[in-house]
Amino acid sequence: MNESGKRRLNLSWGAATDQGRVRTTNQDAMHTDSGLFAVADGMGGHQGGEVAANIAVRTLSSAKHDSLENFESAFVEANRVVHQTALTKPNLHGMGTTLTAIAVLGATDSRHFAIANVGDSRIYRFNGEEFEQLTLDHSYVAELVRREEITEADAAAHPYRNMLTRAIGVHSEVQVDSWRLTPKEGDRFILCSDGLTNELSDMELIKHLIQNPLASNAAKALVRAANIHGGRDNTTVVVINVNIENIETNESDEAPQINEKQSNSLIPDNKQTRLISKLFLRLKRTKGLDPSDVNNSEEI
Ligand code: MN
Repeated sequence: MNESGKRRLNLSWGAATDQGRVRTTNQDAMHTDSGLFAVADGMGGHQGGEVAANIAVRTLSSAKHDSLENFESAFVEANRVVHQTALTKPNLHGMGTTLTAIAVLGATDSRHFAIANVGDSRIYRFNGEEFEQLTLDHSYVAELVRREEITEADAAAHPYRNMLTRAIGVHSEVQVDSWRLTPKEGDRFILCSDGLTNELSDMELIKHLIQNPLASNAAKALVRAANIHGGRDNTTVVVINVNIENIETNESDEAPQINEKQSNSLIPDNKQTRLISKLFLRLKRTKGLDPSDVNNSEEI
């Protein structure tokens, strides 16, 4: 293949976290740097949740995460450290946390993402037209929705809606969802705890992204909106904006090409994406919003 140039991935990001209007502590934790973005939502009595979330994020960020395999191992290591800590300290017994993260992999000119998730914190991607939840929730109600036993609306009101089927630190072993994804020009990613998604609909998330092209403003606006809506939980939001620059190169050592087919391997079908596209079109009509306002959707 004759490549005339390479792509340089430029990311800008912003983050916000708040304890909300009901909780007295913030048991969410997060991490953002140029190579790693993570959100954790801790659970457990006393200080357990806070400790679990912070240990998980710290372990993840200090472990190697320069390949998909290492990134997955870093999640397993986070699980081990939280679990061990819980075993040795009776007041922390049973603590656990969600952990959802994006690691930036590859050489400067061939960067791509690794995504990993355990629990019900989420990662979304918005490309100006489609809004997709990339991660699957590891929760009891999400399993029921996937089996079509209950609807999304039933899930939101279900007495067991907070019950996780997977978490970091609760058991000695953990199953991690992880896969690669190639970010595209104009993509915007949200990483968030359920404090955001329990308060705001997909359409509201989209609206705040469109109204706030700057990642840091979008993160702040989303946390503020969750609090205005009730703020019944801690809310943590990381927003990442993707800008792809085409660069000339005469290097002979070709970086490996990313196989697009590897992306989204965990998404069972396009149903959710299509549904949300429809919602978005309706939003566009009612609010007069145009996605091209915020994206100079340059084709790559
Ligand atoms: Mn939460």
